[in-house]
Amino acid sequence: MQHARRAAAFGPRPPGSPALDELRAYILGELAKLRCEVIRDEFTANTPLGPIKMVNLIARFPGRSGRAVAVSGHYETKWMPDIRFVGANDGGASTGFLLELARVMSHREFRNEILIVFFDGEESFGPWSENDGLYGSRHLAARWAADSTLSRLRALINVDMIGDHELGILREMHSTAWLRELVWRTASELGLGRYFLDQAAWVEDDHIPFLRRGVSAVNLIDFDYGPRNSFWHTEQDTPDKLSAVSFAVVGRVVLEVLRRLE
Ligand SMILES: [Zn+2]
Repeated sequence: MQHARRAAAFGPRPPGSPALDELRAYILGELAKLRCEVIRDEFTANTPLGPIKMVNLIARFPGRSGRAVAVSGHYETKWMPDIRFVGANDGGASTGFLLELARVMSHREFRNEILIVFFDGEESFGPWSENDGLYGSRHLAARWAADSTLSRLRALINVDMIGDHELGILREMHSTAWLRELVWRTASELGLGRYFLDQAAWVEDDHIPFLRRGVSAVNLIDFDYGPRNSFWHTEQDTPDKLSAVSFAVVGRVVLEVLRRLE
């Protein structure tokens, strides 16, 4: 949660912004303390605002099984020129979660290679569409298809907006059924089932480009942020809405799912 607070403190950080450069430097500084390989995946995205340079970051923890599992989330915030949108939960929480997960990873042994992915460009600039939004994940899915990483990717677990103090993860229905049910069963067996709702929803997020290429993927998202989701994409998305408990709940479940994917 402290990492998420730090992320929000950089202010609005849409793709290509100096604030996102600063956050990226912070993420790289934290990853440099750990026992992992760091990969920069740079590309230029064609957006409604014109070409914008974007950078995905990947922390790689090698394994021996020949298979890999990715845990991902986005680190940029939505371009919202009319308001001061700092995205403590939407962008900040996923960033903080992934940094802490990376720290934990560097103290554990997994048979599968673990790829922790910080996506740029999840958000759209105009109305959400096939060509506007999911820039980083579309790019990385194509890159991993070309270099055959996808062929050994057993699963991708994406997290988004998981920092809300009233945590309720939706049963996201684009997600691959066996993987989603593994997450829900694991949460229940850890005594954390109350945070993983029965409520079904269809949410397009950074898991979609991987699903389209045949990868088993699940999206863990709490899409009820404030009364009637009123904190979502507003100036209300600030660090006071976050709870360390929510990060811990999702972290415990994801770590156990990674173990069961061995
Ligand atoms: Zn968003």
